[in-house]
Amino acid sequence: MDKCAIITGGGSGIGKAVVEALSREGTNVVVADRDEEKGGRVAREHGGLFVGVDLAAEASCRTLIDKTISRYGRVDILINNAGFQHVAPLEDFPEERWQTMLALMLTAPFLLTKYVWPNMKERGWGRIVNIASIHALVASPNKVAYISAKHGLIGLTRTAALEGGPHGITVNALCPAYVRTPLVENQIADQARVHGLPEEAVVEQIMLKPAAIKKIIEPREIADLTAYLCSEKGRSVTGACWTVDCGWTAQ
Ligand code: NAD
Repeated sequence: MDKCAIITGGGSGIGKAVVEALSREGTNVVVADRDEEKGGRVAREHGGLFVGVDLAAEASCRTLIDKTISRYGRVDILINNAGFQHVAPLEDFPEERWQTMLALMLTAPFLLTKYVWPNMKERGWGRIVNIASIHALVASPNKVAYISAKHGLIGLTRTAALEGGPHGITVNALCPAYVRTPLVENQIADQARVHGLPEEAVVEQIMLKPAAIKKIIEPREIADLTAYLCSEKGRSVTGACWTVDCGWTAQ
């Protein structure tokens, strides 16, 4: 029977590329996104199911799993990918924004993992990939909520990996540096505003400064690695925080 994968934030950027990569391999895809237009289009293009949900609202996580089970009867793969960035100094950081970012990028991955767990355990097979960030491993100024949520996601990854091992469930995190998506395009504009620099200077002088390879990563690169982790070839990889960072953390 074909496998079924849920990809949160599958309507754009990295999530969309993961939908394409998994669908190419014959996996049924469930695109969960709050953007009905983009998410719906990606799901239609790949013959999958679209579930329009705001995953920062806890009840949506249950809705997403219920709708997936009622359509496919199973969840084999969960990709916790939905996220967004907000750039502001800590003392001005809006508290409501902190709550939403933690809810989306840490609480939703926890709840979705918890809800798919019994289904994966039943078949003795599961793959969970958390799209973290290089900012799950190191910090930068002005991104307090994002960095806190992503650091927490590594704790979730490692704990779930330990508990999933005996049940054939692998849980891994990917830690990319800058990937060419709308999230990064918005960040370039935000950073330009915060630092009072032109956008090209932000890319060269700030964003790519710590990288050994001076390039923005393509979404397909992250999607290919995700597909590997979700395949049989990735069966011995669990609890890993896999950097794709152009050498950022090598120093
Ligand atoms: P993106 O903005 O292109 O896509 C994010 C998707 O998530 C969008 O379709 C959006 O509608 C959806 N989304 C946002 N909030 C949501 C919510 N509350 N409920 C449901 N869906 C919601 O961004 P991206 O760059 O592809 O980022 C995907 C993930 O990769 C994020 O978790 C991000 O932190 C991580 N990441 C991105 C980069 C990068 O450089 N682009 C680097 C490291 C990690």
